[in-house]
Amino acid sequence: MDQEPQVPMSGPEAASEVSPLPSGEGQGVRVRGDSPSPRPSPGGRGRPDDGCFVSRRQVLRYGAAGLACAGGAGALAWYFSSRARAATAAEVFPHDAPSGQLWELWQKRGWVREARHYLKLGRNVQCKLCPNECLLAPEDRSRCRDRVNKDGTLYTLAYGNPTMPQSDPVEKKPLYHFLPGSFSYSFAAAGCGFRCLNCQNWYLSQRKPEELKDPRGPALEPDARHLLFATAQDVNRMSIFPDAMVAMAEYFECRSIAYTYSEPSVWFEYMIDTARAARAKKLRNIWVTCGYIQQEPLAELCQVLDGAHVDLKGFSDETYSRLNSGKLAPVLATLQRLRRENVWFEVINLMVPTYTDDLATVRSMCRWLVDHLGPDCPLHFSRFMPNHKLTQLQETPKDVLVGARAVAREEGLHYVYVGNCRDVDDAGTTFCPGCQRAVIQRVGFSVTTTRLAGGKCEFCKTPIAGVWA
Ligand code: SF4
Repeated sequence: MDQEPQVPMSGPEAASEVSPLPSGEGQGVRVRGDSPSPRPSPGGRGRPDDGCFVSRRQVLRYGAAGLACAGGAGALAWYFSSRARAATAAEVFPHDAPSGQLWELWQKRGWVREARHYLKLGRNVQCKLCPNECLLAPEDRSRCRDRVNKDGTLYTLAYGNPTMPQSDPVEKKPLYHFLPGSFSYSFAAAGCGFRCLNCQNWYLSQRKPEELKDPRGPALEPDARHLLFATAQDVNRMSIFPDAMVAMAEYFECRSIAYTYSEPSVWFEYMIDTARAARAKKLRNIWVTCGYIQQEPLAELCQVLDGAHVDLKGFSDETYSRLNSGKLAPVLATLQRLRRENVWFEVINLMVPTYTDDLATVRSMCRWLVDHLGPDCPLHFSRFMPNHKLTQLQETPKDVLVGARAVAREEGLHYVYVGNCRDVDDAGTTFCPGCQRAVIQRVGFSVTTTRLAGGKCEFCKTPIAGVWA
């Protein structure tokens, strides 16, 4: 999940800021200053916030489905293997796929595509995109809410139907060593495979595509100029397919496209098709992610990635389990793969009081980063603000953030930042590891001073790691 800074937005960004509907008022989103456009939940049986473990009844249903399609021995094999997998496979939403008119409208819009990276198991399917490995019987919906099994085929519902398309400073991702001062055309689609208690974008990540997009009425595929004047309802109905997304980025003079705000790995097909179209037009691609993805799709993605921002949410399985409903090892594997594939990336660590603010653990994390990724991997410590299911906690104290930065530097990391906290000195300053002088200074999302020449420190000529040209 994207953990971009929680600095209140102002200026052009604020115009499209999304605020959640009050509980019980529907499951859509509304844009500030505009009226809500709630969409009904089509299946009605999925629980939006907590999902449902694969149950005994569901195991029996898988068995029955297998029996219907594969017959005797095959079905029994499926039955027993699904029982074994049920102990580890993720929660899913049983019988929650869209059907009837909604399914037809979704298809008509082109918002349905067959998924990549999955296994067909008779009429059942198993997604192999992220480590959750959702196991779906016909008409089930995945944990990330984006994928459904229809008659033994896995489909994504998040294709060509973005939310929050807008031009952002690349520093907002945050990426500090990647084309500083440039703009990145940024968008999301619904869904995420995590359940972070602190999620700041839960109104996007913990939503089904049908709760954010409206397929009714005439198709709406505006060009970039029209998007400037689009209402919230227009955006809810709008399709932006990969070529059109690239045209938007070019119109707004962005040098990159950022897949962000929710978890782009779970709308993989939309992301990778857009990234390929962007490459063809010489735009860069930025993946803002929690890093929870399997190696095969990651290898495919690396072919078109230029930059990534990876949210390392903690440094133990226990923290990942309590805070995010995930595991640490796949995220570390992602970081190592990005390094091997030569994709530029930066790491963020949100310091959540009582969860991720233990400085001994921070030290272990920094040591791992230096040992496995090298001292040039930028690390951003970000201040937690009470949010989503952790509103009872206080924001991260400034001293904890400053202490974490000191620990990271002691462990040998060259580029350490403090985000979402305006009262820390040099929070966003890049220092030359050679002469220790400031080579890039920032205020908020703006670059105020650059003392780089050809990617080197102007003072002592030490190379500064990053993508500068
Ligand atoms: S991407 Fe979605 S459907 Fe696939 S395994 Fe992950 S949570 Fe499940």
